[in-house]
Amino acid sequence: MPTLPSSIWSIPVEYIKGVGPQRAELLKKELQIFTGRDLLMLFPYRYYDRSEITPVARLTADQEYAQVKGILTQIHEVESNRWSSSRLVAELHDDTGFVQLIWFNGWQWVKKGLQIGKTYLAFGRLSFFNGIPQIVHPELNDPHAMQASWAFEPVYPSTEKLKSRGLNSRGIARIMAAFWEKISEKDIPENLPQAIRDKYQLMDRGQAFRAIHFPASWQQAEAARRRLKFEELFLAQVRIAILRNRHHHESKGWIFQQVGDLFNSLYARLPFSLTEAQKRVIREIRRDTLSGHQMNRLLQGDVGSGKTIVALLAMLLAVDNGFQACLMAPTEILAQQHFSHICALLDGLPVTPALLTGSIKGQARKHILEGIANGTINLLIGTHALIEDTVQFARLGLAVIDEQHRFGVAQRAALWEKSEIPPHVLVMTATPIPRTLAMTVYGDLDVSVIDMLPPGRKKIITVHRTNDKRHQVMDFVKSQLRQGRQAYIVYPLIEESEKLDYENLMRGYEEVKAYFPEPEFRISMVHGQQPTDVRNTNMQRFVQGITHIMVATTVIEVGVHVPNASIMVIESAEKFGLSQLHQLRGRVGRGEHESYCILLTAPEIGKEAMERIRVMTQTDNGFLIAEKDMQLRGPGDIEGTRQSGMMEFKLADVVRDADMLMQAREAAIRLVEQDPLLMQPENRCLLQALQAEKTKNNWSKIS
Ligand code: ADP
Ligand code: MG
Repeated sequence: MPTLPSSIWSIPVEYIKGVGPQRAELLKKELQIFTGRDLLMLFPYRYYDRSEITPVARLTADQEYAQVKGILTQIHEVESNRWSSSRLVAELHDDTGFVQLIWFNGWQWVKKGLQIGKTYLAFGRLSFFNGIPQIVHPELNDPHAMQASWAFEPVYPSTEKLKSRGLNSRGIARIMAAFWEKISEKDIPENLPQAIRDKYQLMDRGQAFRAIHFPASWQQAEAARRRLKFEELFLAQVRIAILRNRHHHESKGWIFQQVGDLFNSLYARLPFSLTEAQKRVIREIRRDTLSGHQMNRLLQGDVGSGKTIVALLAMLLAVDNGFQACLMAPTEILAQQHFSHICALLDGLPVTPALLTGSIKGQARKHILEGIANGTINLLIGTHALIEDTVQFARLGLAVIDEQHRFGVAQRAALWEKSEIPPHVLVMTATPIPRTLAMTVYGDLDVSVIDMLPPGRKKIITVHRTNDKRHQVMDFVKSQLRQGRQAYIVYPLIEESEKLDYENLMRGYEEVKAYFPEPEFRISMVHGQQPTDVRNTNMQRFVQGITHIMVATTVIEVGVHVPNASIMVIESAEKFGLSQLHQLRGRVGRGEHESYCILLTAPEIGKEAMERIRVMTQTDNGFLIAEKDMQLRGPGDIEGTRQSGMMEFKLADVVRDADMLMQAREAAIRLVEQDPLLMQPENRCLLQALQAEKTKNNWSKIS
């Protein structure tokens, strides 16, 4: 690989003018800036437009910063009192009015430098007090002495420690400016092929770096930012496209040649017809399993969209072709539910299902392990127990993983380390992930979506009630129970205050018992601190309809299916995240009965919590909710994405820049199709950029 002009671009940061060893230490520690390149990658997060001077009369409250030019007309001191410390107040007048300039700290010193009758440029954060515009601790300048090149002053992130060494935003800007005197735009290697730059009208990388730090206009700053965002998104998408491309071409996979008797028998005996979305996913799976390459597919579908049946048909496809198939669920309860549901559906068909979980021990376990090893068991359902070393499949053709976000990528991989040709993998998730995020986080998987619910589902009536209406809510629940329905009452469980939550739950339980006395009503309680077998028994009693109410923490969030349960009461609903609320709501509305979700909150709740509640009462579309969740919390917080390491963009934001992400993705896929190894001369710069990044990442992991 030709080395880059071993240039100023990679100069150690201590050699940059104005830095020196001590500041360099801090820059490394506080901002991970080691080289000139890193320094240039510290992007301003905003600019002050110092070319703009606002007439006082035009200042508005929604303007965060302002620059005013005027004559200093008076200065007075205000003594400290009970509410406020002493301060210096000055007035700056222009033709349209005046602003107050205020200093609280060090004002004795400021006062000495001020001259009544002189013209100043005052710049700073604007506020209004009794209708009078004020700038506290303004920066005062002589209008004739302003630096022209700093018309747009970049604002950089800094830290307390850096500030104490003179590296506040402006200090950093000064170093940056000094660095730009030594370096030219040509020192910055281009990493986007010309064709891409032309097509998307992106400026050169060197130009972009200069313009993002010291733009000449808003347009230029915007264009620079756009170019650098595109670069981030595009590079990430190229990396993913290469991985996927390699997987599609180089991986080996079993071929499921025929659609056989099992598949057809189940299909024929289904009590409903599949939705178009379910059929489409089955066709996609069928195509993958004929390709000779390993399937690596993510199946997304909202709660209740019917993923299980799709998975089961895929598993039968494997069995029809002489393979074993397994289904791995995140909890024992879910594994049991899947197992009994699947056994019922397959009753009488020539297939041998088995259940393997942690609580199956001794002889029974030994027996199952033998059946798996000699191939007599061809459909295995279980928990993580399935990936233990003792489980040796005779011929595993397909592994289905339910509720993927509870499993790590490593666990996924553990499944296919078991044979030379890896099994096909289908990962199912009911946490709808916004499309843009799925593209970034699960970029290595092909994605299928079940984007419609089976017909005839009734809308779940969702309402918000405050705690003072609790009696009415409980009376309503009682009337439903008397009609033969069952209800969930859910309490929050937040890990940091587990003990407190547990006490809340217990208090809630006592309260529920008082509202719903025995013997008319029976209650199950399920929470995370119970031993598994107790939890399972309580759960089973509810599933079988022996108990009427299930008091629970969020352990019931995932997958449980009780069609007769028609009411979900969520206590302290303001403490739950949106996707959690949506998952919980998905536990009802599973049978023919009208269903209700009641969100109980304190009378006064925060703005964001209120927004979550509003979204819940207005939509039941899981994808809309996921998008909203991402907007409210930011993409980094969506469950399962936190450790992915894919979200670390400096500039791009997968929510706001969704359109650009789509463009970058299309461009990346097209480019990798045409030049899978990036060997063409015009793509060489891209290859180098990806390699450089890899070295840098490896290096930072080691250090
Ligand atoms: P999820 O996607 O949440 O795992 P399930 O697979 O548990 O959903 O399906 C929920 C319910 O919908 C089940 O009772 C299932 O039998 C039923 N179901 C699945 N597909 C259809 C369909 N096409 N028409 C009607 N009911 C269906
Ligand atoms: Mg499910």
